[in-house]
Formats: sequence, structure tokens, C-alpha cells
Amino acid sequence: MNDSNLDFFAVASHELRSPIAIIRGFAELLQDQPSLNQEMVQDISEKIFRNSLRLEKLVKSLLLLADVENSASLSLQQAPILPFIEHCKEIVLAKHPEAHIVIECPDRKITVEADVDLLELAIINLLENAIKYSPPPGKINICISGSDAKTSIAIQDQGIGIAPEHVPHIFDRFYSADKALSRKLGGAGLGLSLVKTIVEKHGGSMAVQSKQGQGSVFTIVLPN
Ligand code: ADP
Repeated sequence: MNDSNLDFFAVASHELRSPIAIIRGFAELLQDQPSLNQEMVQDISEKIFRNSLRLEKLVKSLLLLADVENSASLSLQQAPILPFIEHCKEIVLAKHPEAHIVIECPDRKITVEADVDLLELAIINLLENAIKYSPPPGKINICISGSDAKTSIAIQDQGIGIAPEHVPHIFDRFYSADKALSRKLGGAGLGLSLVKTIVEKHGGSMAVQSKQGQGSVFTIVLPN
């Protein structure tokens, strides 16, 4: 096992231990104090429930990341980009009907060679982050452009942005610019590393530009 694997297991174990410790602590409290009033029991049960959801989400994200990293080959197909992105938009709007998502695609003939299920996962992750880290309702622009050699999909928000010192790390596993905020919003810090892994599996690359307080642009570049 190499150093980066050891680091990963150390951090993953730490992240898993924290909700387990909280659940255990509150369950013990319920056991040891049978005379707690109804309001406190309600409050403690809610904390146990919230942390079990956090744990479940963390395990799901880890399994998904392992699946994507270990899958030997992609199930590639030639997909017209505009209907594909419109489909991703519909999925996100079903969950966040208040969001404004505008797609700009001057060349409707652009196609990408992609594992569409995986690429959909990546795009949805970026769109959900754009909404999560923006003041409601969330205004997002998706700009698609292509050349003979590559296709770019840029997802731009007008949200909180990312401070320059965090930008080089945000694709790292479990990294959050603001851990408390990310946790409050239900994040585990694994979304962007999953997106990057998917894009790199396609032979592509990821870039981010951000200004704190003004918004961010995440760009996926795929080879043609
Ligand atoms: P999380 O589950 O914390 O959202 P991600 O891996 O998706 O994890 O993102 C890592 C971190 O990058 C986030 O915690 C947040 O600090 C920052 N981030 C990601 N997307 C955005 C965005 N669109 N605007 C501002 N910050 C973002």
C-alpha cells in the first residue's frame, strides 16, 4: 500500500469515526437517562438521525468513488452534447425547481464520446454544488463550446466563490473550504474528487476559476 492510500484510509476512517462517535454518545445518553423529557428525547433522536444520514451518504460516496476508480473500462458512446446537458438540467431542476439554469451552446452539432451515465454524474455534481454554494435561487450558466480537438463544458455560478488559498485543494478528497458550511449543506468533500476522476477517466481535464464573493466557473474539457 503506498503513502497516498494510507493517507486516504486515515482520513476516511477519521471522517467515518466522527458521526459514529456522535451516534454512539447520544444513544448512550438515551440509555443512561431514561427520565429525559420528551423535548430532549426528540432533540437527541433528531441528532442521531441526522448523523446516521451523514454516515450513509459518506459510505455511498466512498463506494461510488471506489467503483469509478476501479472500473476497468468506460462504456463509451457518441452523444450529442446539447440534449445531454438539457437532460442533466432537467434532473437538477426536478430537485431544485427554484434554480435558474441557462445553457449556451452556439454549435448544436457538437457531440462527445462519453460514458453518459458517468458524465451525467459529474455534471449533476457540479450543478448541485453551484446551487449549494450560491444564494437562492441560484443562477447558473452552462457554456458549451467545441473545436476539432476538444469540447468544453463550463458551469458558472454567481455564488460565494472560493478563496485563492483553497482553490489548489478543492479537488482533493474530503477537502472543504469551509468544513462547517459544507457539513451543514450535507457535503462530505468527495464530490469534486469524483468529478475529476470521471473526467480524467475520459482523458479530459478539469479547471476552476473563482473569485470570493462573486462566483466560480468549473470547466470540463473532453478530447474529441
Ligand atoms: P462538498 O461535499 O463539501 O460540497 P465537494 O468535493 O463537492 O465537496 O467540494 C469541495 C469544496 O469545494 C466544497 O466544500 C466547497 O468549499 C468548494 N466548492 C465546490 N463547488 C463550489 C462552488 N460552486 N462554489 C463555491 N465553493 C465550491
